[in-house]
Amino acid sequence: MERTLLACYAHPDDESYGAGGAIAKYAAEGVRCYIVTATSGEVGLDHRSEGETELGDHRIEELACAAETLGAEPPVILGFPDGGVEGHIEDVAARYLATFEELRPDVVLTFDKTGVTGHADHLAIHRAVTDAFQQWDARGSRLFYSLLPRAQFSKLARLLEDAGIASAFENFPEWDGSPVPPDGSYGPRVTPDDWITTTLEVDGVKKRDAIRCHHSQLGPEAAFVAMPDDMAALAFGTEYYMLAAGSSSGTEADLFGSD
Ligand SMILES: [Zn+2]
Repeated sequence: MERTLLACYAHPDDESYGAGGAIAKYAAEGVRCYIVTATSGEVGLDHRSEGETELGDHRIEELACAAETLGAEPPVILGFPDGGVEGHIEDVAARYLATFEELRPDVVLTFDKTGVTGHADHLAIHRAVTDAFQQWDARGSRLFYSLLPRAQFSKLARLLEDAGIASAFENFPEWDGSPVPPDGSYGPRVTPDDWITTTLEVDGVKKRDAIRCHHSQLGPEAAFVAMPDDMAALAFGTEYYMLAAGSSSGTEADLFGSD
């Protein structure tokens, strides 16, 4: 029987950072993988040179590049306003519910409750997808949140240090439960390691290659995206998830579990 995975994120690039490894792994095993992104990221960073096309249009192409790199189906963008997902949260949940009913995914992936960076759109997608999943007649399907735990930060810090690249990753504080950082800025949230229910070994080079598709967004991150393949394989070679709904049977190292 054909298996299906659906990745639900806010902006082009969230899918690659959050779940690029899982998408590539399962697509290679013959799973049909879909990416449904709420916005085209039209008010995101823009590290391109001036005089190019509209950022949103460009990021749609970057997302298509990432989907192809990962072996996913052509991505779908729902067209909600970048930075304004919260104001449309019921409509967003309704669109995701309709997508669940249409595709009947065995596995749904989205942000955990920190939103990874605390971005308001990420938090809204976490809520909308969770609500939609709860309303859906899931019949054995599973919902997972993609995590950015201490284990991941420690590994990145060690790799960068070994390569002689200074890193502040080790010093990131663990998330304190507040939805917005005290200074109002966005930044990575370290999730507690005990949230991890599922650890996946993935192709870190392919995940890095998908992140690279989003070149309009690559400012300071470009350094670690440019790392040699053997380092990327280690840096991006593990993904961590938290099972949020569905049976835990066989899910320690496999999002599809054993039933
Ligand atoms: Zn985002």
